[in-house]
Amino acid sequence: MSEENRTPALDPAAARDLLDRARAARRNAYAPYSNFPVGAALLARDGRVFTGVNVENASYGLCNCAERVAVGKAVSEGVRDFAAIAVIGPEDDVECSPCGACRQVLFEFGPDMVLVMPNGGGVRQYLVRELLPGAFDAARLPPVQGTPV
Ligand SMILES: [Zn+2]
Repeated sequence: MSEENRTPALDPAAARDLLDRARAARRNAYAPYSNFPVGAALLARDGRVFTGVNVENASYGLCNCAERVAVGKAVSEGVRDFAAIAVIGPEDDVECSPCGACRQVLFEFGPDMVLVMPNGGGVRQYLVRELLPGAFDAARLPPVQGTPV
């Protein structure tokens, strides 16, 4: 991805802190089938952080990713405005890129949300919109009748 024309990202210390929160959350991952624990930490614009982990199921199709668990927790608490999300997989120094479903869900709540992942000994940052070009969004839907929720 191009480093040009990018929106400013989190400052490095804030990015590392958010990644630390994701790493701490990862301990609670329920991943007995994949053995691929993932942690996420979602930073709301009001400063709150909502963590998530992957939650697997013997019926594999019911598995849920850490990113979507974090979004669900935040939205259920009335929070929908997010600045960033950090995601970390089983390895502390390797990127764990969100799956397509998670990219779509993150895009719904913040195309300009910063995605933070480990990269070697450092931290790599992306914008969600960079990871989902041509995303399907509400602008493609017919107008909603009545009062939107
Ligand atoms: Zn996912």
